Amino acid sequence: MAAKIIDGKALAQSIRAELRERAIALQSQGITPGLSVFLVGDDPASALYVRNKHKACESVGVISKEYRLAATVSQDELIAMVRAENADSSVHGILVQLPLPSHLDKKLILETILPAKDVDGFHPVNMGGLLEGTPEVVACTPKGIVKMIESTGVTISGTRAVVVGRSQIVGKPAAMLLLERSATVTVCHSKTQDLAGQCREADILVVAAGRPKMITSDMVKPGAVVIDVGTNLVDKGFVGDVDYDAVSKIAGWISPVPGGVGPMTVAMLLENTVEAAARTIK
Ligand code: NDP
Repeated sequence: MAAKIIDGKALAQSIRAELRERAIALQSQGITPGLSVFLVGDDPASALYVRNKHKACESVGVISKEYRLAATVSQDELIAMVRAENADSSVHGILVQLPLPSHLDKKLILETILPAKDVDGFHPVNMGGLLEGTPEVVACTPKGIVKMIESTGVTISGTRAVVVGRSQIVGKPAAMLLLERSATVTVCHSKTQDLAGQCREADILVVAAGRPKMITSDMVKPGAVVIDVGTNLVDKGFVGDVDYDAVSKIAGWISPVPGGVGPMTVAMLLENTVEAAARTIK
């Protein structure tokens, strides 16, 4: 039987509608959620992501400020600007679009953002919170992945989950969130032996490797929930890390690319910003 589709776009739209209501409620208490975005250099893909985030903010009533800086901006200048946003009470979220030019120390710059305003969830305090099981802010893509799995109605507790990829921004935090929900989690990477065998064990398979169509139908357990995070630009546009056509004949649930994790990541950025604004009341 063909897999059911986990429609990230539709799910993101319904979350955005709820966020709009929450933003209106906050406004009635004198708070308009605000996000400041730093874009350094002129990478076209980064510029597109920032434009999309800006539009998404507008659609839910989050005010977004964009700082476009030359690729030659100094580290001290950028840090001073981030600190100014930290100190501005009308700003609830701060995001530095990655990648940064190589002369800038990404770690130092991300750590300059106040953890409470770190809506990307990359600050070590927020990453540490994830390990403790008490995160204040959860990174957007992993947070969206879990919501997508939960939207299927499949109970995560007790399942075997396999995460392919161990990056700081997707694989590791996704694995921690699944572990927190009592899945038995295996994290695979480029040195994993018998990747296919590991994946075939998975009731929940999350793939974030950045390798077009690397997960083939023989690597998937019948009925599994498959979340494809991969976003790979090929001749015909974007494809995921999962061979969608073949795997959708085996899996129980599958997320498409595009229209899966991508829109959910943006929705979670908005959610993190609205939640950061709400926390300032408490
Ligand atoms: P990274 O390149 O940082 O990490 C990739 C991970 O995949 C690494 O841990 C790597 O292993 C592992 N890997 C690579 N090749 C293989 C292989 N053949 N077998 C097993 N594991 C492998 O990528 P990101 O985590 O940043 O992103 C992953 C994908 O997700 C990309 O396509 C990216 O564009 C997409 N993405 C999409 C987002 C969205 O919102 N839709 C958001 C973020 C990312 P090792 O550690 O050993 O090198």
